[in-house]
Amino acid sequence: MTFPELAAKLSPLMPELRGRLGANEPLAPLTWFRVGGPAQALFMPADEDDLAYFLKRLPPEIPVTVIGLGSNLIVRDGGVEGVVIRLSAKGFGGIEVLENHRLSVGAATPDVKAARAAAEAGIDGLAFFRGIPGCVGGALRMNAGAHGGETKDALVEAHGVTRRGERVSFSNADMGFSYRHSSAPGDVIFTRAVFQGERGDPAKILAEMDRITQAREASQPIREKTGGSTFKNPPGHKAWQLIDAAGCRGLVVGDAQVSEMHCNFLINRGAATAADIEALGEEVRRRVRERSGVELQWEIKRIGVGA
Ligand SMILES: Cc1cc2nc3c(=O)[nH]c(=O)nc-3n(C[C@H](O)[C@H](O)[C@H](O)COP(=O)(O)OP(=O)(O)OC[C@H]3O[C@@H](n4cnc5c(N)ncnc54)[C@H](O)[C@@H]3O)c2cc1C
Repeated sequence: MTFPELAAKLSPLMPELRGRLGANEPLAPLTWFRVGGPAQALFMPADEDDLAYFLKRLPPEIPVTVIGLGSNLIVRDGGVEGVVIRLSAKGFGGIEVLENHRLSVGAATPDVKAARAAAEAGIDGLAFFRGIPGCVGGALRMNAGAHGGETKDALVEAHGVTRRGERVSFSNADMGFSYRHSSAPGDVIFTRAVFQGERGDPAKILAEMDRITQAREASQPIREKTGGSTFKNPPGHKAWQLIDAAGCRGLVVGDAQVSEMHCNFLINRGAATAADIEALGEEVRRRVRERSGVELQWEIKRIGVGA
């Protein structure tokens, strides 16, 4: 499926744009699941000024969706209408060590890289990012966390740009963090974050990161086409236990499967469509509801339209 041409209509409105604007660009390669249709227009801003310029000139009726490294996303098979924005590593991937055990990190920086930079600078408290395969922008939106740490524990402030192209910043409290969620306005595209750690020994932090890597490899299908934990843990429950108890381990719809290794992970075995994966998730929710009376909530974000 292809959308009506949008990029060519937008370009004349933005003669000084420096980033890359493409039409009907496939999104599947930009996600971990490797499924889904195209973006009507895909914009990769050159830097924050370019992003603000683009958003200021973009007609207000055109929807905007931002994606990070696509590690928590199902893009539906019909693709995403309007503009999808993906921050480039070049313009948004900088890392700066600040005074007082702080680290300023561009939103396109992979979490793993932020963890490593902190460790090398002797900043303790960000090692948990080692296990999360997204980028910092996604971590801010999702309050990503693992191994006893969450984004909210380390964030000092986040910077971003609104849909109208205005620059904004948020303190930790302004981010309204809760479990895998930030209540910062949904239109904000985060561009940078400042994290606070404490003094630590680089060798010890790097050793902790190695332990995290080993623990993940032993317990999660991290080499598969997946979106990580599919459902949030309901209060007082572990999602995987409810899924297991409902007999869903290994369950298949089309070429999508509930992981045998970790049953809160769904896997694209190779030829799954987004519809297969979403239908599998809904079937898991139905079986858990029937078995335990618990309503599972999606943690994975689903964007776009069906085929
Ligand atoms: C193998 C595997 C293991 C995982 N383990 C964990 C884990 O232990 N803990 C955990 O918390 N998560 C885990 N995840 C999920 C995922 O890595 C996190 O949610 C991550 O923070 C998503 O970041 P991303 O860049 O991939 O965002 P995407 O998946 O691209 O997007 C996720 C959401 O963030 C928004 N977003 C992305 N960038 C920005 C931005 N710059 N500004 C505003 N919004 C933005 C998107 O609009 C979307 O709503 C795992 C995923 C996989 C595949």
